[in-house]
Amino acid sequence: MSATIIDGKAFAARIRGEVAAHVARLKADHGITPGLAVVLVGEDPASQVYVRSKGKQTVEAGMKSVEHKLDVDTSEEALLALVEELNADPTIHGILVQLPLPKHMNEDLVINAIDPAKDVDGFHISNVGLLGTGQKSMVPCTPLGSLMMLRDHHGSLSGLDAVVIGRSNIVGKPMAQLLLKDSCTVTIAHSRTKDLAEVVRRADIVVAAVGRPEMVPGDWIKPGATVIDVGINRIERDGKPKLVGDVDFASAAEVAGAITPVPGGVGPMTIACLLANTLTACCRANGLPEPEGLTA
Ligand code: NAD
Repeated sequence: MSATIIDGKAFAARIRGEVAAHVARLKADHGITPGLAVVLVGEDPASQVYVRSKGKQTVEAGMKSVEHKLDVDTSEEALLALVEELNADPTIHGILVQLPLPKHMNEDLVINAIDPAKDVDGFHISNVGLLGTGQKSMVPCTPLGSLMMLRDHHGSLSGLDAVVIGRSNIVGKPMAQLLLKDSCTVTIAHSRTKDLAEVVRRADIVVAAVGRPEMVPGDWIKPGATVIDVGINRIERDGKPKLVGDVDFASAAEVAGAITPVPGGVGPMTIACLLANTLTACCRANGLPEPEGLTA
């Protein structure tokens, strides 16, 4: 193996430490405690795990954590009323409605009801537009975490060729916008892209966000390229459950200059960036300087 392994677990711990230190200063100097409210509708097991983990890490960072667990048959009207209440609550600086929502709810309507300044997931249409026009916004957590790792590894990304595989609203598109903002030449590839292998071979930076186990083999990777593997895929291998990314780690690590593993790469960065976004939202709400290095 020749690639440097980008340790997302250690990186995320560092970010959480920086957030906690900033929160402690906010409390001591201004008497302000950032607050994050997470809303979960229904009992999706994966969502329950995420929400628990978010709450625990929020408290560990010294912030206020509020969890609202609603029945699966809660009406959309009741959820919108709760969002309004949280929008008006001055002790809450970040609101996250855990997706997916039950089928009887309109996700876009609910997300766009959140105050954009408190939209720590960065999914509100205003934040999407601000990011798309290179303005200050709330940035979706997984792409923000991926960007932080790239900046940390490369320093400047200016002029690098980047390929993002996947065009989802939560990962692929915002990732491409962030890379463009950092002056990469960006290609977005997707399920209809012709000759994906050739497209990927041109890239100094490859971000894979597809959801197909190990679909990117090492011989697609340009020697020395940086590979950010966002994919989280549960497979069975040798009769045992295993978590793998969208990139074939073993063969890609032979060619790449640096690569994120799965697990332990992008995954841990997502919640760390949620905490960073909550802190940023709190600083903006109080007219205080934003934490350095924790925003895009
Ligand atoms: P999505 O299903 O919304 O989007 C997948 C994208 O992949 C689509 O745009 C599609 O065009 C593209 N695609 C599908 N098949 C393709 C192919 N054969 N070739 C090229 N492109 C193809 O998924 P998503 O929500 O963006 O998530 C992508 C992956 O990232 C999933 O594995 C998900 O679990 C993971 N994820 C991880 C984190 C994290 O915290 N690390 C967060 C969000 C998503």
